[in-house]
Amino acid sequence: MNKILVTGGAGFIGSHFVKRILWADDITHVTVLDALTYAGHIENLGEAFLNPKLTFVHGNILDAELVDELVRDHTAIVHFAAESHVDRSFFAAGAFVQTNVLGTQKLADAAMRHGVEKFVHVSTDEVYGPLPEGSASEAAPLRPTVPYAASKAASDLVALSYFRTYDVPVCVTRSANNFGPYQHPEKIIPLFATRLLRGEKVTLHGQGQHVRNWLHVEDNCAGIELVLRHGAAGEVYNIGGGTDFTNKELTERLLGVVGADWGSVVYVPDRRSNDIRYSMTWAKLTALGFRPERDFDESLAETVDWYRRNPDRWAPLMRSSVTVRPHVAPDTIRESQHA
Ligand code: NAD
Repeated sequence: MNKILVTGGAGFIGSHFVKRILWADDITHVTVLDALTYAGHIENLGEAFLNPKLTFVHGNILDAELVDELVRDHTAIVHFAAESHVDRSFFAAGAFVQTNVLGTQKLADAAMRHGVEKFVHVSTDEVYGPLPEGSASEAAPLRPTVPYAASKAASDLVALSYFRTYDVPVCVTRSANNFGPYQHPEKIIPLFATRLLRGEKVTLHGQGQHVRNWLHVEDNCAGIELVLRHGAAGEVYNIGGGTDFTNKELTERLLGVVGADWGSVVYVPDRRSNDIRYSMTWAKLTALGFRPERDFDESLAETVDWYRRNPDRWAPLMRSSVTVRPHVAPDTIRESQHA
């Protein structure tokens, strides 16, 4: 398991994972396959381009011919590529089904043909749906509510079906809400941080009582690496961070870090569908040696500081009319011939 194909490696979590795995001595090559949608940014990989073990392929996981060609040359797949933003899924559900479900099937199909040693499918706790009380283990039923979560649940089932039917060594990870540097400012922590840093107001849905579990992106990547190396084929592994907050409690912490007050917060009607609480256990991953290491408050302050110091990274993304397609040196990027 030394040549890894990482899909969605120019996105938030995928880029952190690539930077982590590239430095492992036993990994001889990492290929990133990314379509560079509005959410993918080649600069997220930054210094990773200095590592000769990295190849970047600009292409789409829906391109079966390209996927087949790439999977043939790799021994493992870590699959992050997805449409990932819940609010977008309310008005563009088709794109979520295409990329998240069909894209996963094309990768699994290629994994079957070429006999990869491990296929890690990266998923979310949102597939379990809202849990007013208690916590979901990996055996809990899937009860997704919003189109994003439904498309991820469907993709989990498709991936696992390739294990049950064809013995493809699939593992699924389901993580809590991630935060950290390089996250697109459409997600709540960078959205609130960047607005507050600019002296703008932030909006809380309903009474801000929705509960989310928070996990630093580096802890998630550590968990995913554990599953890549030691996860049992056909198994699902939850990855949690141990920090549950209502959105109001999260906002209070962000106000404290930025130095703003509740005058910066506006309450708005709740969105179309908003799961009241997610919660899960992650004993299976703990048994593999997983311990989330990041302290929430310290990491939140570091994250806000990253957004404070790097406005050039997120300011262009605040304009929905702008699509950023940064230039990269031609010898570090290969355009898909099948786009
Ligand atoms: P992201 O939106 O930041 O990145 C997604 C990446 O996938 C982007 O680089 C994008 O260009 C790429 N992509 C999208 N469609 C593609 C396609 N058809 N072909 C190739 N590349 C494509 O997402 P993220 O937050 O980094 O999430 C990564 C994965 O983790 C997703 O599968 C998501 O469902 C899952 N996840 C995310 C969170 C979270 O809190 N962000 C929590 C749990 C699970």
